[in-house]
Amino acid sequence: MSARVLVVDDILPNVKLLEARLNSEYYDVLIATSGQEALEKAENESPDIILLDIMMPGMDGFEVCRRIKDNPKTTHIPVVMVTALTENEDRVRGLEAGADDFLSKPINDIALMARVRSLVRLKITVDEWRIREKTANQLGVANDDVSPMKERVEHAKVLVIEDQDFEIEKYKSVLNADHDEIYAVMSGSEALKKIKEQIFDLIVVSINLQDEDGLRLCSHLRSNENTRATPIIMVGGDEDIQRIARGLEMGVNDYIMRPVDRNEFLARVRTQIRRKRFQDRLRANYENSLSMAVTDPLTGMYNRRYMETHLKKLLERQEANKKPLGILLLDIDHFKAVNDTHGHNIGDEVLKEFSRRIAESLRSFDLVARHGGEEFVVILPDVTEEKAHYIAERLRRSIADDAIDCNLKSGPLKITTSVGGIIVRNGGHDVKTVLDRADKCLYNAKETGRNRTIFEQAGFIDPDIYKEEEREMME
Ligand code: GH3
Ligand code: MG
Ligand code: MG
Repeated sequence: MSARVLVVDDILPNVKLLEARLNSEYYDVLIATSGQEALEKAENESPDIILLDIMMPGMDGFEVCRRIKDNPKTTHIPVVMVTALTENEDRVRGLEAGADDFLSKPINDIALMARVRSLVRLKITVDEWRIREKTANQLGVANDDVSPMKERVEHAKVLVIEDQDFEIEKYKSVLNADHDEIYAVMSGSEALKKIKEQIFDLIVVSINLQDEDGLRLCSHLRSNENTRATPIIMVGGDEDIQRIARGLEMGVNDYIMRPVDRNEFLARVRTQIRRKRFQDRLRANYENSLSMAVTDPLTGMYNRRYMETHLKKLLERQEANKKPLGILLLDIDHFKAVNDTHGHNIGDEVLKEFSRRIAESLRSFDLVARHGGEEFVVILPDVTEEKAHYIAERLRRSIADDAIDCNLKSGPLKITTSVGGIIVRNGGHDVKTVLDRADKCLYNAKETGRNRTIFEQAGFIDPDIYKEEEREMME
């Protein structure tokens, strides 16, 4: 996993030292020796991670960090603060300025590599979502700008796995500030039971539990379906540093050393919760914009673009599997008159109810799309000619048999639809040709009286052939 690391420090020997270490692990290193230069390189050279010295003349590290995180172009780049001071207050200030992590000088190699690796991994995930989101946006949906720093940190559900009572009490009193819900358990088996019952925003694991291996537990949580994406923070002592490094390698998100400092604990918990909520939001935005790009807002049915893409795939697949494909085109009869008599809003109500009835009458793997105006396409994969006739008639009847109630004084509206149907066989057809063929049948149905089904070969489908009683037989 290679990455570009921007090292920011005003003292050249410090820079050289970090550069050598990072180079030896095959990272590319960029250098900035002032806050201003750091901001420029962060924006123009898109590094994957920034190691930022706090003590610099002019703009100090806190300010640089804040500006990086405030700039939408750079906010996603992880920042690790590097400080000569071991003062916890500094660390906390750094995290509150938006830093993703910190390292103290002299820099411990294990900590350096573990932090860099874990943050680069996080960034790859977030980048992936950013790209998908961009694609979704290009499909015509704009999202508001998202940044991890804008996420709320309160009311998180936190699972604590710890067998020291005083530590549990400490976590509880600290997280009370954010109104978090804490569930404390003393053993791995209890923890595994808990994660089956509910979803947590964060898990805090002691890696020096008396009776079991906390690190093994972390590995278990990482691979468990319910907690795979849940952030984990390890708590351990100085003697655990090697095991902490291994935990970070296996994907644990962060760690904190005993004795646990209250401010640091709060800040680290908040950072993880923010990142989690940020990732969740990217995913939700993506799914949302995707569904907006493929569905029709009025009826909730697939739109024409989606239907055509999907039909193209089905037709390609048919070249191999040779299974017959049914295609129906439905068009509401005299719909213009509904609008003209009762207004456009009532027309919209009819369209919604019409779609609902059609969708309800189909099999789960059939697809219905709004092809335009008051015209719908239904795709029936793998049907016999007879079954397609039956489904077409069932759809037609689902509209004609019950008038649509739109709360009009004049009573429910009698609506009918015409249906044109074809069966596509043997593969090698293109989308436009098959839709044109179905359209000819629909035109025929309109010309010969409406409220009827016409198939390409079978012609007029006699409603009397497909009686209710035969429904079960045909399912
Ligand atoms: P035919 O039986 O021959 O299909 O006649 P028709 O009146 O249904 O067909 P025509 O194509 O003349 O009219 C379709 C009407 O559908 C015209 C258009 O205003 C209306 N329409 C299209 N989209 C919408 C919509 O989203 N909402 C409403 N209310 N009306 C729509
Ligand atoms: Mg019509
Ligand atoms: Mg029409």
